[in-house]
Amino acid sequence: MSVNITEIFGSNVFSTDVMRERLPKGVFREVMDVMEHGGNISIETADIVANAMKDWAVEKGATHYTHWFQPLTGITAEKHDAFLTRPENSRTLLQLTGKQLIMGESDASSFPSGGLRSTHYARGYTAWDMTSPAFVKEMTAGTILCIPTIFVSYHGEALDKKTPLLRSMQALSTQALRILRLFGNTAARKVIPQVGAEQEYFLVDREKYLKRRDLIYTGRTLFGAPAPKGQEMDDQYFGVIRPRVGSFMSDLNQELWKLGIPITTQHNEAAPAQHELAPIYTPCNLAVDQNQLTMETMKRVATRHGLVCLLHEKPFVGVNGSGKHNNWSIGTDTGENLLDPGDTPNENLQFLLVLSCIMRAVDVHADLLRQSASCVGNEHRLGGQEAPPAIISICLGEQLESMVDQIVSNADSIQLLASGKLDSGVSTVPVLSRDGTDRNRTTPFAFTGNKFEFRMVGSSDSIADANVTLNAIVAEALCDAADILEQAPDFTSACSQLIHENMARHQRIIFNGDGYSDAWVAEAARRGLPNLASLVDAVPALTTEKAVRLFTKFGIYTPSELEARAEIMYETYIKATKIEANTMIHMASKHYIPTVISYTTRLAQSITSVAAACPGADLSVQRKLLTQVSDYLSQASCALEQLKPLMERVDSISGMKEMALAYRTAVVPAMAALRYPIDALELLVDKSVWPMPTYGDLMFEV
Ligand code: ADP
Ligand code: MG
Repeated sequence: MSVNITEIFGSNVFSTDVMRERLPKGVFREVMDVMEHGGNISIETADIVANAMKDWAVEKGATHYTHWFQPLTGITAEKHDAFLTRPENSRTLLQLTGKQLIMGESDASSFPSGGLRSTHYARGYTAWDMTSPAFVKEMTAGTILCIPTIFVSYHGEALDKKTPLLRSMQALSTQALRILRLFGNTAARKVIPQVGAEQEYFLVDREKYLKRRDLIYTGRTLFGAPAPKGQEMDDQYFGVIRPRVGSFMSDLNQELWKLGIPITTQHNEAAPAQHELAPIYTPCNLAVDQNQLTMETMKRVATRHGLVCLLHEKPFVGVNGSGKHNNWSIGTDTGENLLDPGDTPNENLQFLLVLSCIMRAVDVHADLLRQSASCVGNEHRLGGQEAPPAIISICLGEQLESMVDQIVSNADSIQLLASGKLDSGVSTVPVLSRDGTDRNRTTPFAFTGNKFEFRMVGSSDSIADANVTLNAIVAEALCDAADILEQAPDFTSACSQLIHENMARHQRIIFNGDGYSDAWVAEAARRGLPNLASLVDAVPALTTEKAVRLFTKFGIYTPSELEARAEIMYETYIKATKIEANTMIHMASKHYIPTVISYTTRLAQSITSVAAACPGADLSVQRKLLTQVSDYLSQASCALEQLKPLMERVDSISGMKEMALAYRTAVVPAMAALRYPIDALELLVDKSVWPMPTYGDLMFEV
């Protein structure tokens, strides 16, 4: 089937072009001005925009609109309202008013608020975010006009992921502009963080998925022995895409293109049944919205193909999990990328200053950055031998690292390591020039040419938190630099001195070696870098004095918003772990143990009948199997008996933090103790009676 990308691209988006076409000139200009520079639009203008938006959406088949927002659940929320007005003489009109467009009021009490709003004060407000375009979504519930909004409480506290994100973008823009002005740039009016998020995922067969309560309730397998084959042959990575997966990808691309999401890359990832996609980068808040829409669309399209898209960070033990590489750079509205080193970075003072500020930001706030990539599923990934360790460091690549070394050691002039030529030794292939940085896949924060790639973020997680943190910490470092440099009598020498100071003081954050090695863990400890192995250890980073100072200084979070977020993280961890433990209890008691009991009973009966039919027959194999299976069965039953009362005890602990800690240190190991004998049983018991699809069935039969 041929697809005309340019025809369908953005066809479901109420884009600037559509607005230009459909709005009176004056109204269009007013909207553009507010979109670019902030401020309020008049209610008359809002009425005109709303009406145009409604007409456009209705032409696309829309019947409803929704304020589309991102509460602290980490996913998106929507409540549909039809465009209908009150019927008169059994006739009705379709309507969207300016007021409906701009603001919504809803009962916020069922969204996580971390104590920011008690249930009896339930008002929450959604307010139109003009910087992200409205779009229509085609769903089974109808075609819906989605208006991206922020979500705040009655007192204006952020109850969502987007409000702080927009605040952090403003902060970064203001501080980066101060730096640009110092370098004589008077043209730029705005600096915008740009983000491209690579998204990893698994696809499994829907019928098989529906037979696994663990996948249904928790998104990951809680039991399952390894398949005879995993990813050791490296034959999946970039391998030929199987037909069913291919038609999913093709369908998905078209859906995403219609939504104006510029998906370009698709390939098979390292683990069996694992894949990846990536869009072209866009301004940060749009990238956050688009990633949410991408995840939602992936799930919906998968269903059409009889598949289920698993976005969990670790659906299967023993093979790679999924992450999201958050590629981040900062650019001006005039098209300059502040992270572009140019051909001679050694002479590019502005680049070196920005780089030194990022080193400082990441070193000072390593704990916060690690926290920003914390989600429950990432517990199983960070620090495993497949994903970056939980220790934050920066990999600059040889060329920049050598420059930092020279600057720190006060070299008279800074030499550029030649990036060199790449000669393959094949005479028909031209000699190529080599990148300045090789890839280091073991690093959490890599400089990759003209951007940083933050690799810790989980595949199911919103990228909002990571970008709020990146924007905030870099804004702070740029602000501190501007404070000094704006006062300096001799700008150039003050700037060189500051670069030296930042790099010397924060050089410990640079690490280009193997991040998976134990040696690095020891070395990082020696350097004093934090190693926050779990979400539970990372949450306190949100409310340290240092963090509160940072976020309040730039108006990104208030202290109570930070406390609320910490509370929600603990709470989410507790709830998710509890659901997992309860699911394990359910599966063990209702599926595995009964299956194994019937199996042993039949085995025992068959031993008796064979012995009767054939006295003297060698029954050692059957007897050994019966003993082994009975032993594991008894182990599983013991573990199950221990898990239940343990959970009751832990649930009675007061304090979210304390309870989360107990879940991690007591319940998680008890869950592992239950998993172990059941996985062992899976390898012993007849496959035809085993009650669940196995790892092999799930990963190799898509
Ligand atoms: P890889 O990480 O596999 O080498 P690419 O370098 O092609 O892949 O890019 C990965 C992602 O980074 C894509 O989403 C791409 O659009 C995005 N990206 C590229 N340049 C920038 C930039 N300057 N700022 C932010 N993201 C970028
Ligand atoms: Mg990448």
